[in-house]
Amino acid sequence: MIHKIEHIGIAIKDAEKSESIFNALFNNKPYKREVVESEMVQTIFYQNGPNKIELLQALSEDSAIAKFIAKKGEGIHHIAFAVDDIVVELARLKAEGFQLINETPKDGADNKLIAFVHPKDTNGVLIELCQEKP
Ligand code: ZN
Repeated sequence: MIHKIEHIGIAIKDAEKSESIFNALFNNKPYKREVVESEMVQTIFYQNGPNKIELLQALSEDSAIAKFIAKKGEGIHHIAFAVDDIVVELARLKAEGFQLINETPKDGADNKLIAFVHPKDTNGVLIELCQEKP
């Protein structure tokens, strides 16, 4: 089952600059910074009440975030939904005809298993599914 929005991912160019912007915006500091080697990204997480924001900075030109920024500029990159069982949801979405970027879950930031659904099938919105690791 797909639950609440787990977080919103925002593509940024400069972690230091963006941190000072978001610190001022939220009047809050990040609770976590984490490098995800497989994605070649630096992530920065804020928790504001029930809402979580993930800032993503590319660590390589080959990173999906670098390509996204080159094409569209900085901004909202994806919306992540919490799921109970990511394997079941991926199978269900595949059967529904959605193109999956990740057919099997992979390790994401913040202790999650994640997978992405291709934005061409979701009105241009990149969707991430994430399940808390046991
Ligand atoms: Zn995310």
